[in-house]
Amino acid sequence: MNNTDRSHQIHQILEDVYGYSSFRYEQEKIILSLLDGKDVLAIMPTGGGKSLCFQIPALSLEGLAIVISPLIALMDDQVNALLQLGVKAAALHSNVEYTARKEILQSIEDKSLKLLYVSPEKLQSPDFLNYLRNLQISLFAIDEAHCVSVWGNDFRPDYVQLRIIKEAFPAIPIIALTATADHATQKDIVKQLRIPEAEVYLASFERTNISVECRPGQKRIEQILDWVQNRKGESGIIYCLSKKNTEKLAERLKDRGYRAAYYHAGMDGLERTQIQRRFTDDEIDIVCATIAFGMGIDKPNIRYVIHYSMPKNIEGYYQEIGRAGRDGDQAEALLFYSWGDYLILQKFIEESDSDDTFKNVQKAKLERIWQYANAQNCRTNFVLSYFGEFKNDPCGHCDNCLYPPQIIDGTKYTQMALSAITRAKESVSVNLLVDVLRGSFKKEVTQLGLDKIKTFGVGRIVPYAHWRHYITQMINSGIIQIDFSDYSKLKLTPLSHAVLQGEQMVELAEYRVQENKAKEKVKKATLEIDEYDEGLYERLRQWRSSLARERNVPAYIILSDKSLKHIASIKPVNEQDLLRAHGIGKNKLENFGEAIINIVLNKA
Ligand code: ADP
Ligand code: ZN
Repeated sequence: MNNTDRSHQIHQILEDVYGYSSFRYEQEKIILSLLDGKDVLAIMPTGGGKSLCFQIPALSLEGLAIVISPLIALMDDQVNALLQLGVKAAALHSNVEYTARKEILQSIEDKSLKLLYVSPEKLQSPDFLNYLRNLQISLFAIDEAHCVSVWGNDFRPDYVQLRIIKEAFPAIPIIALTATADHATQKDIVKQLRIPEAEVYLASFERTNISVECRPGQKRIEQILDWVQNRKGESGIIYCLSKKNTEKLAERLKDRGYRAAYYHAGMDGLERTQIQRRFTDDEIDIVCATIAFGMGIDKPNIRYVIHYSMPKNIEGYYQEIGRAGRDGDQAEALLFYSWGDYLILQKFIEESDSDDTFKNVQKAKLERIWQYANAQNCRTNFVLSYFGEFKNDPCGHCDNCLYPPQIIDGTKYTQMALSAITRAKESVSVNLLVDVLRGSFKKEVTQLGLDKIKTFGVGRIVPYAHWRHYITQMINSGIIQIDFSDYSKLKLTPLSHAVLQGEQMVELAEYRVQENKAKEKVKKATLEIDEYDEGLYERLRQWRSSLARERNVPAYIILSDKSLKHIASIKPVNEQDLLRAHGIGKNKLENFGEAIINIVLNKA
């Protein structure tokens, strides 16, 4: 088959099986390379559509595709979704019982199975390898491929053994996929998996449908309660550092009538699975969780991700916010940060029992996310450059692009702060400095006699939060430094003197007063459904919920919100029209067509 025919064929599969009209990013090129027998490394952001890149070749080629995935939940999720599309797929893992296992083996025998998901350990068993040798294998797909590299963020020893694949099956194409790999990790993946000739496809990491915002972390709970008000009924995750905070926050949200729950490692497995399930089924809207949450879930309609405190690195942060808006619709990410967060995270690193090299890498990573949170220009470009992608144009979907910070002449404020630090003999922390500048008679201030120094109260008219915001910027620009070895006290730097002497002026970004802005539409996603019949949408959702319960699968696996909205917008009354709806392929048409049309006609 030549490339034009192939291209035609894979478009047909995309439409018939998945009900999608066009490929995203580099999907098509990746698929064509695999069909050409080449090895591939695909780096695509979470939600970018990695699965299609090996599923479509698996459907188009003869034989069985083997997919290696690190998590049982991930495997089951993908298998469920494939079954709903009418594709024969299965997963072999420790939770699969004897009879089910036999059925799977049978479907391999009779060549009806197209995709088999297995864990990395499984591939290390010589018996299993030998078994595979006697089968016709179409391709190997290695999901979460960064786990193979110690440079990556989530190294798994089991993954290292995956090098045997190429050794045992040199002629069969391998595709390695990941959503998180900086340059060093990319090179290492290819080396570890013995696929030096792999074609590398790096999709842009920019998630244009996610608008990002960072805020100083004062009165976080109030800010969050305020923020969710405009987002009632939408799905969101709020990440917290501590278990206690997840519980506290969930309580406050529940008090206000939100369908909220908490999730953390201290709960038992069953409880956690239940929360996850209820969240995917839209029975819970908000989950307040420690970072353990979200790894295995593929819920496309998460509308926002909030970080209650600053994450420990940009990889983690970007991975977490990437769980929002996987359906391509508008989504939001909000991060709170403070010096307190920074110090806690730094302490975690110091107190961990890793070696010094590792600690230094972790510290450097922490430093970068701190700079990110404090950045005054495009945040997207900051993150992209972190992952090795360089762009100049403002993104248009981060807070700094949308509402550029107002720059003021901060020379006077900086001089006040520097002078107070000097007169306090460099013995104050950020909070204490603000107290002194604002003329507070707190015990800590009077005990040290700081109410007697000349700068006491000179900055009274500047609100507390503003002062903290300004001082943070002074630290970030190197005019003041924090001495971590001395209780985080503030010290002067070589840059301080020029400012004190009035030889250098200082620009500061004005404190942004947070109003609860109504959500603004940012960039248009490919398929923007603005107008749809809300009553019809509601009826479709109810139908979907009861069907999901009946079949014991998550609601989105039946049809996505976007599909339902599209249907509620075009109101198809026959099968041909329904096929035009987003996410409706032949199999879904066959299974749900009649039911949907009846709902549209109001006959159900
Ligand atoms: P990833 O594995 O990269 O995180 P997935 O493969 O799970 O992402 O895809 C995310 C969502 O995008 C899924 O719901 C998938 O069906 C959908 N998707 C993938 N490719 C396309 C496409 N070309 N057009 C429309 N939707 C797509
Ligand atoms: Zn921007």
